[in-house]
Formats: sequence, structure tokens, C-alpha cells
Amino acid sequence: MEKLYEGKAKILYPTDDPEILLTVFKDDATAFNAQKRGQIQGKGEINCAISAALFRWLESLGIATHYLNTPSPNQMRVKSVKILPLEVVVRNIAAGSLCKQTGLTEGTVLPFPLVEFYLKDDALGDPLLTRDRILVLEVATPEQLEELQSKALQINEYLKDFFNCCNITLVDFKLEFGLDSQGQILLADEISPDTCRLWDQAQTDPQARVLDKDRFRRDLGQVESAYQQVQKRVLEQIAQVSV
Ligand code: UDP
Repeated sequence: MEKLYEGKAKILYPTDDPEILLTVFKDDATAFNAQKRGQIQGKGEINCAISAALFRWLESLGIATHYLNTPSPNQMRVKSVKILPLEVVVRNIAAGSLCKQTGLTEGTVLPFPLVEFYLKDDALGDPLLTRDRILVLEVATPEQLEELQSKALQINEYLKDFFNCCNITLVDFKLEFGLDSQGQILLADEISPDTCRLWDQAQTDPQARVLDKDRFRRDLGQVESAYQQVQKRVLEQIAQVSV
């Protein structure tokens, strides 16, 4: 079948139904704006399973998502949406680019969840946006921006509690949203160890606790087992909350 689009971690295919797309999750991993490339064995299936479980669960809590179903372990059928060219990042604890840009020490608990918007543009290196820059670029209307901010905070509250029950601290994460044919904002893309920073609460060592793509970014080793660990705990917790 002809690809609609191939990204760094997923391939998008059309289906017989113009309202539905098929996402295939790949084992390919990239970091630092694709300057570092590699593979994480089994990642496609793991990220698909984690994302599907979390999307289903968030839907049950009233968050509209693009998720439909998973016809095979690394494939997800989703509603066709027009992806807003924004990366919506929510942070509970300082890490990554926030530390680099502000001097905050990694691990500092933030006084409130920080919502940030980055422009999805590889050529520009995904720059941090301000509210006015978003409006000038017309990537979202003021109303859409308000909705994205409140949805991101709501999702953070749900996910923070969820991961806590998995003995995992949700440090930060990135969301993407899209507009459906009626202009409704749907949560899209994926929620996985590729797009979240997740720290094992059973570990105090700053390297041993890392259960996410930072293991790949920073060459910490045991990348596959960290992803498997997240999958196991998420699926066990999902079974507890049974959706
Ligand atoms: N993130 C992502 N895709 C990106 C950039 C960031 O999924 O293109 C996620 C990243 O995994 C982390 C959060 O968003 O959970 C915040 O990332 P940060 O801005 O600290 O950037 P990084 O340190 O990853 O370059």
C-alpha cells in the first residue's frame, strides 16, 4: 500500500475509508533532531500497545482521541485528523531542554505543571513558541490555544496519577493534537516512552531510574528492557482500572 507519510517512528497509510488512517509503529529511534539514529528492538509493538491502552483509558475519562483500534500489535487505526503543527509539552519536574535553557537543576519539582508549545518544524529545530508567536503564525486560534492548554493540563493530571500507580514518576511528556472533519480537537500521535520522561520510583540512582527514550539519547544501555518494563506496568495498571 502507498504510504501517506513516513515519520521518524511511524508510517501512515490510507485505508478504504477516507476518515480512517492506519499507523504502523516502527522500531526506529532518533534523537537530537534525527542526528542520532538507531533501533530499539520491539519498540514498535510496545509503543503501540502502551499508546492504545492509554488512549482507550483517556477516552473513558472523556478525553477525545484519534484512537480507533489495533488490528495487529504494531498497527493502530486512527481517525484522520489535520495535525496542528505544535508539540505540546507538559512538565512536572525539570529535565532536558528546560534545564539547558533555564539552568534549573534536573529533578527540581516545578511549583505547578508547565505547559509549553513548540513549533513542529525540523528545519527550524522545533523552536519554543510564545502565545503571540502562535497567533502571528496562525497555527492555532486563541480559542484553540485555550482548549489545548486546558486539555494538556487535564491529561497531565490523569497520567500523573496513572503512572504513580505504576510506581513511575511522570517527569514530562509531549502531546500532539489534530482537528477532525468537524473541527473538533482530538488527542493524536502517541503516548509512550518515546514521548514521555518516566522515572522508576523504586530507583534513586539518576541513571538507573530512567525508563524512557533518555536511555537511548544518553547511551545508558538496557533500552529494550526499560520499554518492556513500562509496557508491563502500564498494562497491569490498565487491567486494574479495567476499560
Ligand atoms: N519530546 C518528544 N518529541 C520531541 C521533543 C520532545 O516526544 O520532538 C518529549 C521528550 O521525550 C520529553 C518532553 O517532550 O518527554 C520534553 O522534551 P524536552 O523539551 O526536554 O526536549 P529534549 O530534552 O528531549 O530535547
